[in-house]
Amino acid sequence: MLPKRKLDELLPVRFRNGEQVKQFSKPCVRCGTMLQARDMEGAARLVEDHLAIAATARCPKCGDSFGIACVVDNTKRVRRVIIPAWAFGLYLRNLPTQAGELNPASAPDAARPQSEPDTPPSQPPRVEHRNVVRADELVGRYGDKPIPAWVVVDGAQLNFERVELGDRVAPGEFLLDGCLVYRAA
Ligand SMILES: [Zn+2]
Repeated sequence: MLPKRKLDELLPVRFRNGEQVKQFSKPCVRCGTMLQARDMEGAARLVEDHLAIAATARCPKCGDSFGIACVVDNTKRVRRVIIPAWAFGLYLRNLPTQAGELNPASAPDAARPQSEPDTPPSQPPRVEHRNVVRADELVGRYGDKPIPAWVVVDGAQLNFERVELGDRVAPGEFLLDGCLVYRAA
């Protein structure tokens, strides 16, 4: 497992799209003082195209300490992770060094029980015949493909999440046109 480190030693982190996270700050939950990466200790790791942060912040002003668990995407949008910071930190520090293992669906086949010898190894079925409605509103283009801001798949609205080239789609995500990933907000 990786040791806990001060977050300012782990930054900056650069995403594949060139965006960089140089600073990470958060107000103290008790007194509101803005804490910086140097006031936080834990793990910050690039997982696919997200920077995952799990840390304990200690306020130099009031002495309070609290957990931080969040994910920063490659547009620097920060989202909270809804599991305790310590559990997320253990997970992150135990994560193998190569990226791409956040998604359990992409775990190696060796972890699964052996199938019957005469059964050919099968890919997970890709559902292509779903009822998909594309938004007219576009958030951009990828090559010559317009990127709808959202899609409605079988009645559920999903928002554009990212462009995916490695075919890594997590449970609950929907792959449009083979490279655009959508998920529930
Ligand atoms: Zn404080």
